[in-house]
Amino acid sequence: MKKNDWILAGVIIVIAAAILLFQLTRGDSGAGEVIVTVDGETFGTYSLAENQTVDIGGTNRLIIQDGTAQMEWADCPDQVCVDHSAISREGESIICLPNQVVVSVESGEEAELDGVVR
Ligand SMILES: [Zn+2]
Repeated sequence: MKKNDWILAGVIIVIAAAILLFQLTRGDSGAGEVIVTVDGETFGTYSLAENQTVDIGGTNRLIIQDGTAQMEWADCPDQVCVDHSAISREGESIICLPNQVVVSVESGEEAELDGVVR
């Protein structure tokens, strides 16, 4: 009986921790998502809450980490997109002119900002 109580307590703690972690992760998802367009057409939409590497048509490589997106590599001659700092807020974008790649942040952040403004 006593041992079962401990197991039950342990299970509850694990579940509580999992819920907390889930909520923290969900909070991050408020950072929105990045929309990648190539040559004016939507290439894909990626959540900023999820750490990932996005290969954009073999010409650019985008890294999403800790709620920010950054162009890690590109085969363009000017490397302007690679030098661009990481983006995370609505309306920010990284543009690779030679490859016609546009990475922009959309949604989520705006409503959150309205709540923060005093
Ligand atoms: Zn570029």
